[in-house]
Amino acid sequence: MLMPARLLKGVGPRRAEALARLGVETVGDLLYYFPRDWQDRFALKDFAKAFPGGQVVARGIVTRAGEIRAGPRMAIFKAELAVPGPVHIEATWFKHLSRRYDVFAPLKKDLVRGAEAYVVGRAEASLVGVRDIQAEEHYAADDPQRLLNVERIAPVYALTEGITQRWLRALMAEALDRAAESAPDVLPEGLALRRGLLRAPQALRGVHFPGSRPELSAARERFAYEELLLLELAWSLKRREARRLAKGFGYEVKRTLLTPFRQGLGFELTAAQKRVINEIFDDMKSPSPMTRLLQGDVGSGKTVVALSALLLAVENGRQGAFMAPSAILAEQHKATLDKFLSGLPVRTGILTSRTTAKQREKILAAAAAGELDILVGTHALLEEDVRFKSLSLAVIDEQHRFGVRQRATLRRKNSFLDLLIMTATPIPRTLALALYGDLEVSVIDEMPPGKAAAKTIIAGEAESFAFLRAEVQKGRQGYVVYPIIEESSRLDLRSAKAQFERLKSEVFPDLSVALIHGALPAAKKAKIMEEFSAGKHQILVATPVIEVGIDVPNATAMIIQNAERFGMASLHQLRGRVGRGSEASCCFLVGAPQTEEARARLAMAASTSDGFRLSEEDLRLRGPGELLGTAQHGDVALKVADLVRDKEVLARARADAEALLAADPKLLAADNKGLRERLIALYQRRWGWIDLA
Ligand code: ADP
Ligand code: MG
Repeated sequence: MLMPARLLKGVGPRRAEALARLGVETVGDLLYYFPRDWQDRFALKDFAKAFPGGQVVARGIVTRAGEIRAGPRMAIFKAELAVPGPVHIEATWFKHLSRRYDVFAPLKKDLVRGAEAYVVGRAEASLVGVRDIQAEEHYAADDPQRLLNVERIAPVYALTEGITQRWLRALMAEALDRAAESAPDVLPEGLALRRGLLRAPQALRGVHFPGSRPELSAARERFAYEELLLLELAWSLKRREARRLAKGFGYEVKRTLLTPFRQGLGFELTAAQKRVINEIFDDMKSPSPMTRLLQGDVGSGKTVVALSALLLAVENGRQGAFMAPSAILAEQHKATLDKFLSGLPVRTGILTSRTTAKQREKILAAAAAGELDILVGTHALLEEDVRFKSLSLAVIDEQHRFGVRQRATLRRKNSFLDLLIMTATPIPRTLALALYGDLEVSVIDEMPPGKAAAKTIIAGEAESFAFLRAEVQKGRQGYVVYPIIEESSRLDLRSAKAQFERLKSEVFPDLSVALIHGALPAAKKAKIMEEFSAGKHQILVATPVIEVGIDVPNATAMIIQNAERFGMASLHQLRGRVGRGSEASCCFLVGAPQTEEARARLAMAASTSDGFRLSEEDLRLRGPGELLGTAQHGDVALKVADLVRDKEVLARARADAEALLAADPKLLAADNKGLRERLIALYQRRWGWIDLA
């Protein structure tokens, strides 16, 4: 398993390098380089039924074959194959000629009259009695390679330059022959037996070269289980570790600040807010530090909840940090804080990229001296050299992508710190458990009264622009969102930049239209947001950068262009940006869904305001990557497991992980050695630490 892959047959320096790009250094890496898909590559029985464009495999007897010159540099090779049924096959290869060798030599050798052969390629529209194939591969019937490539379920690997599917299949077969039998199995034997799981050698063969679909599912599921078991072990270890940490002090709910704060709010907290505040307080009062994720739709009132937690810290003579994803959002939070805390003896400060050097110095000194109770800033606040006298709570707003490694870093610096992470992205429970296994989760599942969700309407552009104009005439503002910044030749999408010009000069020439997108420098973005917020512009043309954070209560219209390009969770986030004030507001989904699925998605987004339902659906349709972004994916090592499809495997893995650790908390038993080593290899670096010492 540890043998370098370059010692395998046919791996020269070039290919060794290409393999390394795929993360394959050893034979063991190679065996665990799983296919990204599997294809049924059986010879077609009836070519009259082959549909144009699809890949087909033909098996037949060569009746004619030969090269045809097509130009000074191009040549064509044609082969006619007699296949069962009423049609015959005409396979065509196009190649650039080479001065140095005969590009068709292998074809000339294998495809001679009377020989039996396989041809793989794309079927083209056919004439009566003939089926044209744009050929890609061929195999002589007695070629041992063909056993790996046709007349079977064949693996499809993710490739890189310099490596072909066919070559990698051959290499994999060799690696399996050499090393599969001795492949170590990380799963303890008793567990594998009890769960009816294949052992590693058989599973490795089955995942790469399955003999049947059931064999493939058994093998795939075996590895999915292994991955999920390791993940659940890692999370469980993290939770155990956190439980062992002690804050060394206890909070007491004194209400000296909390009561006047509540009274000054001017509204009654919703039942959901009260519930999550209690959950948070219980965590804060407990001896081990809190790591809690607070989910709640845009506008559900997370800020007040965060403030309550911060005030509990302050009541106990400690300090809190309140962090937002951007300077402008931090400023907004600071303003909210000052509004709600006016008259209370709470000292607040703000520190962002826009703080002047002089102010900064003052703030730093105050934080260090304990003369500041709550410091608001961007997410970088705790990474910078800010020293607190007695920081005990950090609230991180709008940041579900705050990964496990970052959490670990924070913990290492402040092992007693209570951590509250807030997000408006509704993350379905299964996914939250798998991706944030070290977090407790609270959900605000109720909107404050009178905060009606934006009405969502599927409409044409003209209709939506008319509504926007009418709103502007009433003194309101609106957003027009495009999926991309600039036109690209590859995607037929409207872009913010180009459409901004059109909107400004043709559609709304009499209004002030501004443009904001992710490629602008932060200071520029902040300036535009401020101007929009202050009512200087009536219309803001944007890319999805506005998804996170901004709050302009006067904005009552949102138009999402090419809406079919957005995931439902994104649509939901975006529309949450309107309806922040007391005015009724509207979100228009404009687009041309090409598929039934895209149409259904838009209809679903329009029909419900339940973010969790939408993100469940998103997850089902598009997978977790879309929902959470790739950054998040880096946290967990899953190659074959699929958090949607393997829900039940996950549940089994979770139960087994708990049982394993209950019996052997450090995985020191001989049976668990494989798991232990694999855990360290997978998660030690990725997560900062796992405590297995
Ligand atoms: P988010 O969860 O998106 O961060 P905010 O905390 O910004 O939401 O709250 C949105 C608005 O609702 C704010 O203006 C806030 O003051 C108000 N709000 C919060 N809780 C309540 C409540 N219980 N009743 C009425 N208004 C509330
Ligand atoms: Mg908020």
